[in-house]
Amino acid sequence: MNREHPANLAGAATPSGREHPREDCRTCGACCAFSRDWPRFTLETDADIERIPAAFVNEASSGMRCNGDRCSALIGDVGISTTCAVYGQRPEVCRACEPGDDACRIARQHFGIDAGRDG
Ligand code: SF4
Ligand code: SF4
Repeated sequence: MNREHPANLAGAATPSGREHPREDCRTCGACCAFSRDWPRFTLETDADIERIPAAFVNEASSGMRCNGDRCSALIGDVGISTTCAVYGQRPEVCRACEPGDDACRIARQHFGIDAGRDG
């Protein structure tokens, strides 16, 4: 199973078009632990949600279950080494995550991680 963070997608580019080092996500995970409101379901069908192991889905089936602000599917230590336990079934908001975008920078700053070597 591929458990990489969605932002590790090959060729992921910032809105400015600059490629962001994939390694940054593997040693980050800040956006997965910033707010329990972030990994919510938006465009997912019932079938999409059912493919996510129930232990990772919140009681209202409105998003990922979180422990505090941290998504329950986040594995590892923020700012050190992280992966996603449900990479293949991750929510759309996670797929849309863009390393180096505003949300990324806010989350990284919250955890005291450099906002980006290229920005
Ligand atoms: S906050 Fe940015 S760098 Fe960190 S895991 Fe999320 S997208 Fe990647
Ligand atoms: S589902 Fe995966 S990518 Fe999305 S917030 Fe949780 S750990 Fe991060």
